[in-house]
Amino acid sequence: GTDVEKHRDLLVAENERLRQEMKACEGELRELQRQQQAPCRDCPHLQENAGLQEQLSQLQREAEETRAKLVELDLEVQQKTNRLAEVELRLKDSLAERAEEEERLSRRLRDSQETIASLKSQPQQIKYIIKTVEVESAKAKQALCETQSRNQYLQEQVGMQKQVLKEMEQQLQSSQKTEAQLRAQIMMYEAELERAHGQMLEEMQAMEEEKNHAIEEAFSRAQVEMKAVHENLAGVRTNLLTLQPALRTLTHDYNSLKRQVRDFPLLLQETLRSARAEISQAIEEVHSTNRELLRKYRRELQLRKKCHNELVRLKGNIRVFGRVRPITKEDGEGPEAANAVTFDADDDGVLHLLHKGKQVSFELDKVFPPQASQEEVGATVHSAGVRGEGSHLLLTLLCLPQVFQEVQALVTSCIDGYNVCIFAYGQTGAGKTYTMEGTAANPGINQRALQLLFSEVRGKAADWDYAITVSAAEIYNEALRDLLGKEPQEKLEIKLCPDGSGQLYVPGLTEFRVQSVEDINKVFEFGHIKRVTECTNLNEHSSRSHALLIVTVRGLDRSTGLRTTGKLNLVDLAGSERVGRSGAEGSRLREAQHINKSLSALGDVIYALRSRQGHVPFRNSKLTYLLQDSLSGDSKTLMMVQVSPAEKNTSETLCSLKFAERVRSVELGPVSRKAELGSWPSQEHLEVLKTLLGDLPGSAAPPGRGHASPSPGQLSSRSASIRRKLQTSG
Ligand code: ADP
Ligand code: MG
Repeated sequence: GTDVEKHRDLLVAENERLRQEMKACEGELRELQRQQQAPCRDCPHLQENAGLQEQLSQLQREAEETRAKLVELDLEVQQKTNRLAEVELRLKDSLAERAEEEERLSRRLRDSQETIASLKSQPQQIKYIIKTVEVESAKAKQALCETQSRNQYLQEQVGMQKQVLKEMEQQLQSSQKTEAQLRAQIMMYEAELERAHGQMLEEMQAMEEEKNHAIEEAFSRAQVEMKAVHENLAGVRTNLLTLQPALRTLTHDYNSLKRQVRDFPLLLQETLRSARAEISQAIEEVHSTNRELLRKYRRELQLRKKCHNELVRLKGNIRVFGRVRPITKEDGEGPEAANAVTFDADDDGVLHLLHKGKQVSFELDKVFPPQASQEEVGATVHSAGVRGEGSHLLLTLLCLPQVFQEVQALVTSCIDGYNVCIFAYGQTGAGKTYTMEGTAANPGINQRALQLLFSEVRGKAADWDYAITVSAAEIYNEALRDLLGKEPQEKLEIKLCPDGSGQLYVPGLTEFRVQSVEDINKVFEFGHIKRVTECTNLNEHSSRSHALLIVTVRGLDRSTGLRTTGKLNLVDLAGSERVGRSGAEGSRLREAQHINKSLSALGDVIYALRSRQGHVPFRNSKLTYLLQDSLSGDSKTLMMVQVSPAEKNTSETLCSLKFAERVRSVELGPVSRKAELGSWPSQEHLEVLKTLLGDLPGSAAPPGRGHASPSPGQLSSRSASIRRKLQTSG
């Protein structure tokens, strides 16, 4: 299904991308078309063109003005011509008048001359008359006088007429002069007119030329621009031409995508259908396989349980693990801090120690190398959390070694009413406290175990009521103290239950009921504070005392009323290092002796339990006595032997590992034990040996503890191998 979805998502994303690309192309195309429609927008030529057009229009305006001026001048010329014609007319009139006058005057002159002539002819008459007058005398004389005056008058008249004529002539002359003047003026006007006309024509010509020039220039410029625009257009066209196929392919792609998208649901449905069918088939197959596996697993589980029981019967309920801490800064530098511990890649139960140039090998139930995490160490305890979860458990079974399976049940078996002890053994600084308590960020077995108990109890809450209580105690110099009590200095006693069950109890030991991880943290903190305030040097003190965390799980099956009680004892033992006899004195020596004694006693007890001896020396120390009911019977014990890998610690490491191997040896009979006795190296363990000699089987076997002794053949081969090991260790 997810493949198809991924494919569909891809297609949709591709489709979206193509759509956006096409949109962008369309926008570009639109832009180009718009550019084509309105060429040269925002182009610099446009401005120039506008300027030219303006210039052109100004020129046209100027030409218009000139034309208007020309028309004006024409009008003026017309007016002047009219006036000239008028003047000519008037001149003609005055000429005609004058001619008339002249005619008249000449007529009068002629008349006058006639009169004169007639008058001249008259004197004969006059003479006659005179004669007559003379004849007639007076009368004639009078007439003569009259005539004479008349003549006088006439002559006056002629003179006057002559005067008038003269005036007239003068007038004519002036008139002629005026005419000439006028003519000259006209000529001048005409010349001026001609000149103005010519000038105007010239101006017009120039203007026309200018206009033509401007037009030509504008035209050429426009042509250039046009050319550029054309070129632009051509570029755009080619662009368009290249874009078109791209658009075509895009469209094609888009269409095919569209088609694909359209077809996709069908395809998807189809694929989903087939996938579903496949999945359901696969599920069916897995189901059947699961069923088959479950069936096999159940069978295997039964088989394993049988084997486990057999193994438990063979080995006892005691596990011995080793944990090697990493080299730390505190180890210093140089050869002293060199690593002396190596592991076997194929066997996680084997550890090699290089001691004084010789390699000694040890075999434990399980060895945790330095890189092992708390989880991994815790996992041996934790993995019980997956119990009952079909395939998950199967996985755990396949992944984890068999030994884990046994240890994981350790903590949870408390819930079922078993008692459990987990010890951390080793020299000071080997990591006991780290393994049991751990750090706040990386808690150890204590907290993880309690967490597991909580989760397990929660899981069973439907049928069971559980109460988990916690006590913390310390054994120092064989004195038991309550770490959670009001008076920590008070020494507590271990007593037998008065109910006759044979169970031990510690009157006055404080118990805290815990329900969550927070509760445990509070309890731990409380106990820790008590310990810190009680002693001046906690580190020293803690390395010389055993710290116990006792978790009691009490259950009640609500339906049956069945009650169970299981105890989980988590013990951070005192440092196992040997104290040099010469150096130690007083309290230090007493401490060392107590520690030695209790550790030896613990070893003896475990050894005795594991080798199924009749007598187990629980009473030899406070620790073993206190834990008696958690070590015996169906109880389960885990001994975590802590070792330092540093070169300087190899002697102590060797002792710790020997302790581990000793408590682990199962099938040793009396003969082999003798052999082991001979090669037991340390002086400090003489006490142990004495105890061992005193605790031979059959001496005081408690009821229910009688186990079949191993066959002599088994023993001899085993003791031979032990002897070999001891010999190599020197
Ligand atoms: P012990 O309790 O045996 O005296 P500690 O638990 O105090 O020893 O360990 C001594 C030092 O070594 C401590 O600083 C501790 O943090 C460190 N240490 C011990 N074991 C480990 C480990 N597995 N990983 C890292 N550091 C460790
Ligand atoms: Mg410690």
